Amino acid sequence: ERLVTSSADDVERAAEAALRPKKLDEFVGQRVVRDQLSLVLQAALARDASPDHVLLSGPPGLGKTTLAMIIAAELGTSLRVTSGPAIQHAGDLAAVLSSLEEGEVLFIDEIHRLARPAEELLYVAMEDFRVDVVVGKGAGASAIPLALPPFTVVGATTRSGLLPAPLRDRFGFTGHLDFYDAAELERVITRSAGLMGVDIQHAAAHEIAGRSRGTPRIANRLLRRVRDWAQVRGDGRLDLKAARAALEVYEVDPIGLDRLDRAVLAAVCRRFGGGPVGLSTLAMTVGEEPDTVETVAEPYLVREGLLGRTPRGRVATQAAWEHLGLEPPPGAWG
Ligand code: ADP
Repeated sequence: ERLVTSSADDVERAAEAALRPKKLDEFVGQRVVRDQLSLVLQAALARDASPDHVLLSGPPGLGKTTLAMIIAAELGTSLRVTSGPAIQHAGDLAAVLSSLEEGEVLFIDEIHRLARPAEELLYVAMEDFRVDVVVGKGAGASAIPLALPPFTVVGATTRSGLLPAPLRDRFGFTGHLDFYDAAELERVITRSAGLMGVDIQHAAAHEIAGRSRGTPRIANRLLRRVRDWAQVRGDGRLDLKAARAALEVYEVDPIGLDRLDRAVLAAVCRRFGGGPVGLSTLAMTVGEEPDTVETVAEPYLVREGLLGRTPRGRVATQAAWEHLGLEPPPGAWG
């Protein structure tokens, strides 16, 4: 079931690192964001200044971390990495900020999960390049302003709507990453296979692409599993037969849905007669946090036309019933 979730664990991070595009022109797809970002970066380089802060939003596995690394590389500077949940106290963030060197890029993953005091410290730092270091405690405490060298924050979020407006406004550029189409995923797969030193047949790349849930991370993961199958049970060739057989072993749904996706659809259809059902009830039924259901499962289900979001809650579409092989209740579509 891990095979098709879109988040990465530590073992996978190592495998991913080898496949990450290092330059903007190696980054597949997302033409609009790439183009806009390229302008921002070229202008900054021409002025010999740090570019505006950049916010990247979109579901997991679409390339936000990769783009942050590319931004630092294109600027010829180093990248410092942290995340919203890793910063417990404003003081932790103050320490990170005050250790930045001129021109560095600070990547803050899951920036919507920063605690309030850290968030407030961050906007001052982004706007005025200053942190107020609090010395002492209680009534005798005082804040000593500490000037910071210019730097660029790259924030990543799966939920740009959750960022408070004052923080969102500090970003000069926001890029929205969207799911990749099958042709783009085929390019990701073919490129990755090349880096892994294996040949992949076009039909196999096509098959994997169609089951990758619009997500490069999943495409790369499925490619590794197909390679395993080809080595262990096949004749080493990454052809259509190997792709189909491997995807079957790993129970990847014909349209790439993962366990959570299927659980959400099945709950809406079976437990709630097709909906509408509210997000929190639905999340409780599948045993997940509402945030996970909303940011990890729903965007792809909505995009594939399997789930609808209405003011009264989530509803299954006819395609969802068909996909699950279930009969919708009579009269469901007028
Ligand atoms: P996110 O930070 O959005 O969760 P990552 O940047 O970690 O996603 O990307 C996940 C994996 O997918 C990485 O291994 C990366 O190499 C690959 N990847 C993502 N976007 C692209 C792309 N546009 N072209 C090629 N590979 C990509």
